[in-house]
This record gives sequence, structure tokens and C-alpha cells, in this order.
Amino acid sequence: MSLERIDEWLDEVNQIGKTSAAGLYRLAYTKEEQDALDIFRGLCEKEEMSVREDAAGNLIARREGTADVPAVAIGSHLDTVYAGGQYDGTLGVLAGLEVIHRLNEKNIQTTHPVEVIVFRAEESSRFGTATIGSKLMSGKADPAKLASLKDKDGITFPEAVEQAGFSFEQLTKAKRPQTDIKTFMELHIEQGPVLENKQRSVGIVTGIAAPLRLRVLVEGKASHSGTTSMDMRKDALTGASELILELESAARNEKDNHTVATVGSIEASPGAMNVIPGQCRFDVDIRSTDTASRERVYERFVQAAGHIEKTRGLSTQMQTLAEETPVPLSSQVQDCLKEVCSNLNLTPVFMPSGAGHDVMNMAQKWPSGLLFVPSVNGLSHHPDEFTALTHMVEAVDVLEQAVRTEADEGRPKKQVEVRS
Ligand SMILES: [Zn+2]
Repeated sequence: MSLERIDEWLDEVNQIGKTSAAGLYRLAYTKEEQDALDIFRGLCEKEEMSVREDAAGNLIARREGTADVPAVAIGSHLDTVYAGGQYDGTLGVLAGLEVIHRLNEKNIQTTHPVEVIVFRAEESSRFGTATIGSKLMSGKADPAKLASLKDKDGITFPEAVEQAGFSFEQLTKAKRPQTDIKTFMELHIEQGPVLENKQRSVGIVTGIAAPLRLRVLVEGKASHSGTTSMDMRKDALTGASELILELESAARNEKDNHTVATVGSIEASPGAMNVIPGQCRFDVDIRSTDTASRERVYERFVQAAGHIEKTRGLSTQMQTLAEETPVPLSSQVQDCLKEVCSNLNLTPVFMPSGAGHDVMNMAQKWPSGLLFVPSVNGLSHHPDEFTALTHMVEAVDVLEQAVRTEADEGRPKKQVEVRS
């Protein structure tokens, strides 16, 4: 039964990266990542797939089709964060393997080849940059930037790649031509609470949200908290508070577009109980899959900054730390997943992804889709990360049918229909 099989595979892969501490340690381009890949290679070979590693060490396992046409690919990753969980990434590649197992079991021949890809270095924990393997495969990687990366022990990214047995100079050869792949699909844990709250087993992701990040400095005047009357103050912190509440309200207005805005760090100075804050610095993170919606929140924030300058006699400065472009996912693949769900009597939730995944690089080159399965308590990047395998099996049912549709299945070899 597939539930038990997936559970066994999970146990087998998750033997790797265990330490005396809780959680898994399979960091990018370490021996542990390679060991997990080697186990996965063995599982793929048992399913009679041909397996190779590309120039970046991405593992590509392939089940041939009946024609020489682009492949339908399923992929995710086996590396983890420090003290990572058992499901993030791992579930995605095992889902792909399970689809292959079922095709074999049912003796289904597809026109298009079906591939399962394990991308290297999806997590940013070691080098501060995420989804490196899929960036290389889709041709989105910047070698100069990769060359400048270092881990916390001072090992450079090129050194780590060489230590893992690959050549840094050759990494860009991992780039695959457009004609290699027809459709790419990833299954991943949600890493948030939406599916669990709605009690649904499957999410169809509409796009990957991208952040606009700002560092904001509000300047007023530090003065004595006892001797400065309320109308004489230039309090940077109360001005900043007004700005932050306005940001929240602007993002709430864009709820239908799933836009979110957060101030997660703030610092007031001089930082004494009896001194009115003369300076306040905070960081803003606005995310959306819809650039126009994100822009509306940003514009209201800028207007609010102008307002507190006038009404409170403060000055403000804003520095853009990051401005990334959201990645919409293929509507054709979403439609395919939607139809499959309806055939299986499942009601999916259409939702954006607030976190980045390998699919966001693949989607820039090939029509791509992302399926979410629930994470209990929305927990992820944590040893207690958990997804019920019953949900997992339902999501794999969807993935299997979507792959069979996309890969253009023929009839099972044994059943030849004869019409008179
Ligand atoms: Zn992941």
C-alpha cells in the first residue's frame, strides 16, 4: 500500500543527517546531502529508472516514454536547514518516486518520458542563497555571485562544490535546453496554516510571492521625557508606530490579492526609559504574487511617511534592500491540476506561496505547477514538522493523474480494447 511504502522511504532517507541533537542536518553540498541522494538513487534504480547527476550534482532519474519528446518532470530537494524537518523537500521527491512506482505497477506506458529531479542546495542555510540547483538547471544562476558565497566556516561555494566532487567551472553546464522538459511539477509541504485551517488536503499554488524589503529610518529629536510637553515633542517611535499601523491597514486592504506586509524588527534610540526616542529604524517586508498590489501598499506607506513628516515634524529615509519579481505559475498546469482534483472528488485551495521553491526557477523556463500538502500547525524548518501521510497520499493521487495526463498515457500494455 502506498502509505506504508512512502513511510518506509521517508524513514530510509531520513536516517541521513541525524545527530545527537533534534532535527536533520543535510546541508547543501555536504556528504549528508550526497548520502541522501545516493539512497534516493538506489530507490529509483529499483524502479528501473536510469539515473544521472548533472554538472551541478542535481540527480535526474528518468523513466522513458514511447517517443523522443520532452519529459514531464517532478522535482524537489533533499537538503535541509540546520535542525530541519523530515518532510520539507523530501516529500516532494518521494512523491515523484511514488508516481513512478504506480506507473510501473499499473504497467502504464506514457508517450513522454517522466523524470524525477532532486535539486541541490535548495535551502539558503549554508550559503545564504536558496534554490541553487534549480537556478543552474534553468540557466538563472549568476556564477560571479555564486563564486562570492561562503559558509559560516569560511568555506567558499566553489570550494564546497569541488569538495563534493564537482567542478565549479563546469556548473553552468547543468543548464538544460527548453526542449528537454514539457511540464515541471513540484509537491511541497505548505509551511503555513491555510490548508490545515480549511481542512483540505491539497493546495494548488497560483504563484510565488516575492518580497519588497525596505529599511526605514525615522528621525525626530531626543529629549527629556519629563520636561518636554506633549506638543513640543518630535518622537520618532510614535511616528514610526503610525507608519507601521498604516502599513498593516494598506496590506489588509489587499487581502483579496493575498498581499502581506510585516515589520519584524525595530530599534529605537537612544533606548532609555526617560528619553523621547530621537531615532527609530525598522525593516519592512511586503510580499505578493501581484506586483501592482504590492506597489499599492508601498505607495500608501510612502504617503504615510510624508504625512508624519508634516504632522509630527519628523524626517524619514527609505532604503530598498530587495525588490524581487513574483513568479506566476502556469494557468494551464493549474487547470490540469484542478480538473484532476475534481475527478478525484477533492476540493483544492487556490493559494499563493509566500516562500520560494525550486519551481519558481523552473517556471521561468517551462510551464510549471506546485501542489501543497498541509503542514501540521503550519510548522516547517523545524524538527517537529509533520504532514499526515493520508494527506500525502491524496496529493500523490493528484500528481499521478496530472502526470498521466501531461505525459499522454497510452493504454496499459495488457489491456487492448477491441471494438467491432
Ligand atoms: Zn523545501
